[in-house]
Amino acid sequence: MNNIQMVDLLSQYEKIKNEIDTAITDVVRSSAYINGPEVKKFQAELEEYLRVKHVIPCANGTDALQVVMMALNLKPGDEVITPSFTYIATVEVIALLKLTPVLVDVDPDTFCIDTEQIKKAITPDTKAIVPVHLFGQCANMEEITDIAREHDLFVIEDTAQAIGADYTFSDGRTAKAGTIGDAGATSFFPSKNLGCYGDGGAIFTNNDELAARIRMIVNHGQSKRYYHDDIGVNSRLDSIQAAILRRKLPHLDTYNTNRNKAAAHYNKAFTDNPHIKTPVRAAYSSHVFHQYTLQLFGVDRDGLKEYLSEKGIPAMIYYPVPAHKQKAYQNAQFDNSDFPVTDELSEKVISLPMHSELNEEQLEFISSSVLEYINQNN
Ligand SMILES: *Cc1c(COP(=O)(O)O)cnc(C)c1O
Repeated sequence: MNNIQMVDLLSQYEKIKNEIDTAITDVVRSSAYINGPEVKKFQAELEEYLRVKHVIPCANGTDALQVVMMALNLKPGDEVITPSFTYIATVEVIALLKLTPVLVDVDPDTFCIDTEQIKKAITPDTKAIVPVHLFGQCANMEEITDIAREHDLFVIEDTAQAIGADYTFSDGRTAKAGTIGDAGATSFFPSKNLGCYGDGGAIFTNNDELAARIRMIVNHGQSKRYYHDDIGVNSRLDSIQAAILRRKLPHLDTYNTNRNKAAAHYNKAFTDNPHIKTPVRAAYSSHVFHQYTLQLFGVDRDGLKEYLSEKGIPAMIYYPVPAHKQKAYQNAQFDNSDFPVTDELSEKVISLPMHSELNEEQLEFISSSVLEYINQNN
């Protein structure tokens, strides 16, 4: 049996090695390393895949979030609502721009932002909501966009973990994750569902004016060369990463299907076990299983992790310390007792290996090892 990894990037590469190697060599030979034709082609191909008017590539997912907030003219003191249970980048950019992060609790089934809590957190200073499509499933975008419309707020989707997921509205219409709000921000970090071989990110929007501002901001605020209309940043996707992403994009749906197959294997193995809650699927979203995350009841989580590790099975805790408990993000806007669900999740969750290359033998070994530990200790 092959070594089990949280994410197996090497096996994935080996299946498309020839295409990737040629693509990289071609960029090197072209010497169009920055903003070359590969970047433009990738942008157009991703726009088509996502059915969105504008994709603006940038350097990473954190920049993508930051640039959107800059382009929306959010100002110091503006409040931005985002979930307490997320990767820190979401909260970080809000604080970095001197906006006020207003953290709210999440739904215990989907791990995504709790829409009732959003309503309670709105004040006259609220300007935006940043839902995070955590672990590969969309937040409740229909309710979120309704709330935003009612209170005149921007919606910025953090879709770093959910590229390729489909959201279904109550009228049956569907849209890709990240294309529903005013803008979406994603990451091509190697371990994401569509990962490059370094850092990368992109912004999505259907708004022409916003797209134009975003394009300027990622490029030093330039409207034309050496004319700086705005304060911008330097945030580019390089041509080698774009060339790699172009070769991987046609495989994204297969990668996500493989992740779903792995999740189905795990689900079946853990069905009806009183100590395990498997991921809950929302009716309005497909799932691309960026992570496969269990909630444990009456199980020593560290003990399980150690037991798995001894058998060569990695497992991770996403996320052990929620944003509101991080030293850097103590804030008068919230009270540490406001996040009972997040607090509980941070103590109960464990993520099992999840990627496009897991085989039956590995899945069987992982799931039977989890069950072995639970049966031995209960
Ligand atoms: C990975 C990730 C980011 C940041 O992406 P980078 O490319 O690493 O900057 C932001 N938000 C979430 C939810 C993520 O998982």
